[in-house]
Amino acid sequence: EEAKSLNFLEHIIEDDLKTGFSKDKLRFRFPPEPNGYLHIGHASSICLNFGLGLRYGAPVNLRFDDTNPAKEEQEFVDAIKRDVEWLGYEWDTERYASDYFQQLYDWAVLLIKEGKAYVDSQSSEEMAKQKGSPTTEGSESPYRNRSVSENLELFEGMKAGKFEEGAHVLRAKIDMTSSNMLMRDPIMYRILHRAHHRTNTDWCIYPMYDWTHGESDYIEQVSHSFCTLEFAMHRELYNWFLDQVYDADKVRPKQREFARRNLSHTVVSKRKLAKLVEEGIVDGWDDPRMSTISGLRRRGYTPESIRNFADTIGIAKRDNLIDVSLLEFQIRDHLNKIAPRVHGVLDPLKLVITNYPENGEEWLDAENNPEDASAGSRKVPFSREIYIEKEDFREEANKKFFRLKLGKEVRLKNAYIIKAESCTKDTEGNIIEVQCTYDPKSKSGSGTEESLRKVKGTLHWVSIQHALKAEIRVYDRLFTDESPDTHKDKDFMEFINKDSLEVTTGYVEPHLKDAQMGDKVQFQRIGYFCVDPDTTSDRLVFNKTVGLRDSWAK
Ligand code: ATP
Ligand code: MG
Ligand code: MG
Repeated sequence: EEAKSLNFLEHIIEDDLKTGFSKDKLRFRFPPEPNGYLHIGHASSICLNFGLGLRYGAPVNLRFDDTNPAKEEQEFVDAIKRDVEWLGYEWDTERYASDYFQQLYDWAVLLIKEGKAYVDSQSSEEMAKQKGSPTTEGSESPYRNRSVSENLELFEGMKAGKFEEGAHVLRAKIDMTSSNMLMRDPIMYRILHRAHHRTNTDWCIYPMYDWTHGESDYIEQVSHSFCTLEFAMHRELYNWFLDQVYDADKVRPKQREFARRNLSHTVVSKRKLAKLVEEGIVDGWDDPRMSTISGLRRRGYTPESIRNFADTIGIAKRDNLIDVSLLEFQIRDHLNKIAPRVHGVLDPLKLVITNYPENGEEWLDAENNPEDASAGSRKVPFSREIYIEKEDFREEANKKFFRLKLGKEVRLKNAYIIKAESCTKDTEGNIIEVQCTYDPKSKSGSGTEESLRKVKGTLHWVSIQHALKAEIRVYDRLFTDESPDTHKDKDFMEFINKDSLEVTTGYVEPHLKDAQMGDKVQFQRIGYFCVDPDTTSDRLVFNKTVGLRDSWAK
């Protein structure tokens, strides 16, 4: 038995199993609409549904909810499949709501014949007016009592393309006085003269979400259909539509709702993310600042870190905002275990070791990962001229400055203890070079008394003649506001952080010339970085994934 306690959706399943539902009839689905790329909110739904599949040994379908040809594209289908696979999940079958268009149509015809659906020929404004409000009853459409034969003829005409968009809709005949507005004769079909990414021009009427979703669950024999809270009010309609076609020998899908996950300092909505792409605020759906799965992947996130994030925040009954630092915690935790340590200098200052041989060079041992003994070690070149970070040197500083200052010592990680003797400035007074001496007996790992000598402060560095130049992309939050899309009087676009990308030139160890796209490293004392796909044979590009909370000096 797992130690982890059950979430409320698992309790619902457990109760069903206790009251006679057969375990081998459990089936789940993840139902994205292919109108954009998946985001971190979807990761919660993916981990929930596929996690349940693994827990109960039940199949999980990947179902594309593709009923709106105006917004859906094959590119998005492909991206969604790639992302679900990358997260580490395997679906049982790949399904499309569009595969059920004929079945849905046949059932709609049945509803017309039973007097439960009718063609309405009013404008959408007229229909909206008659809908009433939650506190007032709606009124019936003048077309509500059309005869079955007239309805059948019109509906067939709609399907055959005889009418313009908006000329007619098919509505379920339910109850214009219901306290649930969604039950006031909801629209089942609308005319759209648009090519669909899969059915092309076979159809010019398309089923609405409510009519499609539950029936698709039923066709696939999904036992538990979990969706986000905004569908809670739709549950009554989901059940009404199921009642019209349900056969008692079959599994009757059960819709239950959980809270949408929102992440701070970003937006998790395909529509809003699409706007950032369309307006060129970001570089595409996989821009490392995006909350998309593909953006996170390019940023250097691992599938494990995203799954752990989803697991840790769990499933909730109420909407709330999750701080992005929780996501950052997970990737930092994972990369700490797996990312090789390297020396990388982002803001270089030249340092000359005056007592080191003029053309001297040695290759020093450097441990790849103190958290992982199996990661082994590598050789790092050392020479007379090295780069250190500008901020690691000051002419004078107080006792709390454990870095390099004139007359004081520090250790160069994996190398020697050095002492700053003097520095050179340009005409504006900027320090452009530091002259040091080194203690030749203090080499790290040599076992000598000098090598074991404790000095406060250890710096990272690179040998200038060996270092590789690299483009370093450092990201900040894309929005200045914690919750940019929740302001009543301001659009989320008003909160864009104009300084969310900073590009600098850094210097890294030479072995990184063989780094492959997606490789992840820790630049010691700075943070975690990964190789960006823009990298070519003569241009190395790194993305900063996340900073280190603590330096390894502790
Ligand atoms: P978006 O507004 O981003 O398009 P959506 O809910 O319309 O979101 P779908 O493609 O329909 O997107 O979502 C597929 C599944 O993922 C649905 O079951 C949906 O409820 C769930 N989902 C979407 N966003 C979130 C979120 N932020 N948190 C948890 N689950 C989500
Ligand atoms: Mg949706
Ligand atoms: Mg949507």
